[in-house]
Amino acid sequence: QCAAVCPTGAIVVKNDRERVWEAIGDPDTKVIAQIAPAVRVAVAEELRCAPTDNILGKLVASMHRLGFDEVFDTCTGADLTVLEESAELIARLEENRDLPLFTSCCPAWVSYLKQKHPELVSHLSSCRSPMEMFAAVIREQYKSSRKNIVHVAVMPCTAKKEEAALERLKIGGIQQVDYVITTQELIRMIRECGILFSEIEPEGLDMPFGAATGAGTIFGTAGGVTEAVLRRLSSDKSPAALRELAFRGVRGAAGLKETEVSCMGRTLRIAAVSGLKNAEDLLTRIQEGEHYDFVEVMACPGGCAGGAGQPFAAGDSRRQRSKELYAADRMSSIKRSEENSLVLSLYGGLLKGKARKLLHTEHNGEESK
Ligand code: SF4
Repeated sequence: QCAAVCPTGAIVVKNDRERVWEAIGDPDTKVIAQIAPAVRVAVAEELRCAPTDNILGKLVASMHRLGFDEVFDTCTGADLTVLEESAELIARLEENRDLPLFTSCCPAWVSYLKQKHPELVSHLSSCRSPMEMFAAVIREQYKSSRKNIVHVAVMPCTAKKEEAALERLKIGGIQQVDYVITTQELIRMIRECGILFSEIEPEGLDMPFGAATGAGTIFGTAGGVTEAVLRRLSSDKSPAALRELAFRGVRGAAGLKETEVSCMGRTLRIAAVSGLKNAEDLLTRIQEGEHYDFVEVMACPGGCAGGAGQPFAAGDSRRQRSKELYAADRMSSIKRSEENSLVLSLYGGLLKGKARKLLHTEHNGEESK
């Protein structure tokens, strides 16, 4: 196996990669990975493949060669987030409390709000991020494994490394994600092992978590979380309604995008923000009395596609990554999170009586590790 002979043990590398190599080399450890949606579009350009080349399949095959035992897609966790966040929004609308609901997927935003505006923390969604939801589900699934479980998340983001270690996200004192490696770190591992990415035959995601939707995929770009939630909230489930949502104003590179939708007999005002300066400007307007019902915030301009863990991309390349995420969404056979039968089956099984514990968190005080 590539991992057992990989020469990287002799090289001083960033801690997370070194520890991942150690885990992979331990026969008593099962190493399970999840890959965030934005990772695949950056890998394609860096490893010189056409975006149409089933990059996710090539990534899965490469990670199997590196020695990962199971490889899953964070989009499955994003589907869980859509269902939980939509339910939370509906509950708050019914009780008319703590609106707007702020998304909580982006750890840099959550940390910013807690530091700069503790008076607004009650507006944050209690949802764990897709990475953390999925990790908790995976850990629950493998809790009876005879092997040690090491969970590795491949993320576009350096802030996710901090998030993984947060005290409030531990369950029973256990960190759910052991190591976060960035897209750049994964690319380096693939190169270190001499894998010819452009040549490798794609492989499917592993079971039992091998199903995700287009709604989960677009989490990788700014406005994607909002559009995925709108798909869930919309009572019209026709393909035409889905297409119409794409033109609701939440797509595109603008730092602040706004739209209105009808839901529960009222008109909801919604904003999708990327970049913390834009978020601060919107918070000022909210504190001056402007009303919103739902606000998505991603700290990186353009969202995770341009995250700090990705190979560098200027404006046009970032926009290209977003286009590729929307193209992947168009190609997915399931586009709404509530139609992901795998996720629905979790609610009747693994999550029964445990959804609150595994999928949510408390936002008390500042972030601490
Ligand atoms: Fe990380 Fe940036 Fe995505 Fe936030 S927007 S989760 S900081 S990559």
